[in-house]
Amino acid sequence: MPAPRRIELVLRIDGEALRVSAPQPPSRARLDELLPAMQAIDNAAIDHAVRKNEANTGAYVTCAKGCSACCRAQPVPVTPPEAHALLLLVEAMPAPRRREIEARFADRVARLRDAGLADAFLHRDPDLSLDGARTLARDYFALGLACPFLEDDACSIHPQRPFVCRQYLVTSDPALCANPFENPVDVVPMPLQAAIAMLSAASAVMSTPQHTVPLTLALEHARLHRAALRQRVDAEPVFRHWLQALSSG
Ligand code: SF4
Repeated sequence: MPAPRRIELVLRIDGEALRVSAPQPPSRARLDELLPAMQAIDNAAIDHAVRKNEANTGAYVTCAKGCSACCRAQPVPVTPPEAHALLLLVEAMPAPRRREIEARFADRVARLRDAGLADAFLHRDPDLSLDGARTLARDYFALGLACPFLEDDACSIHPQRPFVCRQYLVTSDPALCANPFENPVDVVPMPLQAAIAMLSAASAVMSTPQHTVPLTLALEHARLHRAALRQRVDAEPVFRHWLQALSSG
């Protein structure tokens, strides 16, 4: 079997040239099929950001396996193509594992519905104010919904985790992450906005503005929009759109 094709590119960030080798998406692809290439680029940008932050501030990333505060209660935002990728990932799991993960998702969805929050996230009001969004996020946080993929304080889907999970790295005391709404958490600044760029690309493909949903609602959201998310498009122009949008978020 021939080796999977790859794309080689050079990212220029802060005057530095970063060489990236990424898996080449199919020429006609669903949006989620672009994610492996995008994640390879995002990973290179994140590594660069961490190195630069260390050099500039002397502060080191304090996130480590076993520290899962950010996966325990925050409304981790995922884009619709990432939600679709997670749905496909779960649907491809062996039946017992799939049932276990789906049950966890169903539990989180039910608790969000009981709290009257699910629809506010699934069908986001485009005119929601910043204060309104903050209140919604605080209400979500108060429910203490752990990510369904969190197991033994570690991410069980680490290679496939969403953009935001990759990018959220702190240099402050990990204890502060237990409540980032009240505590001053030092987050490593990221040069590229991969999720925002994906929203831009997905909005263009789907001809309607797209928004993120908390990861706990990812399967629900992807099921609601499965037909649109299943469409295949010419990958190259969408990928170029994403690359251009990366630094303008
Ligand atoms: S996908 Fe993984 S890293 Fe992201 S919130 Fe869930 S457990 Fe944490």
